[in-house]
Amino acid sequence: MIPIKRLPAPDVLSRNEERWRTAFLEERARDPQKRPSSKQYAHPDIVSTLEAMSHHKCFYCEQSTKQTQREVDHYIDVAEDPTRAFTWENLYLSCWECNHRKQPHRAIPATCCVDPCAPDAQPSAHLMFEKELIRAREGSAQGLATIKKYKLDRKDLDHKRLKQLQLFNEALVRIKDAQIADGRKDMNENEKAVLRSFCQPDFPFSLMFKVHLEQHRL
Ligand SMILES: [Zn+2]
Repeated sequence: MIPIKRLPAPDVLSRNEERWRTAFLEERARDPQKRPSSKQYAHPDIVSTLEAMSHHKCFYCEQSTKQTQREVDHYIDVAEDPTRAFTWENLYLSCWECNHRKQPHRAIPATCCVDPCAPDAQPSAHLMFEKELIRAREGSAQGLATIKKYKLDRKDLDHKRLKQLQLFNEALVRIKDAQIADGRKDMNENEKAVLRSFCQPDFPFSLMFKVHLEQHRL
């Protein structure tokens, strides 16, 4: 998870939000199980704006949504607050796994978790990594709640993070070999740039690499 800066609401939502919400709430008054239409809240223009905000990554786990099914998630569940079903600030981009494994608001309220879209969001203050394994930083309650709510410690994610980490470690070995061959102690700027590219916001699992680069003092 990394901080996400929200772009302005797409036109299709600004134009229709009020009408969609009113119609949905009327239907829900008749049928309390009624769900909002994903053709509306997950309109292609809404998805593409959310993708632009997150560099095509899940807001929660940072895996690329180009390689997995993506969905529009309601940050505050529809069951908890149906009036926010079409509220732009409540729409997040999620991979299928984070969305479907998510614990309901009543079990773990989103308000107890790290919100990547909060103006002062600092996921790295609450989440850290030991190799590919996610941990709450210094026992952060918000970090722990976030890991539990979205199941960020699940096996499929550990496996994907490990594969990316292996690419980082291979780059590190190549750099160390070049340093030995050249009789250098320090990395040159090109080598530092190669390692820093892993923690750019468009790179999958960039928070994990930020933590690892800090350990390498880069
Ligand atoms: Zn995810």
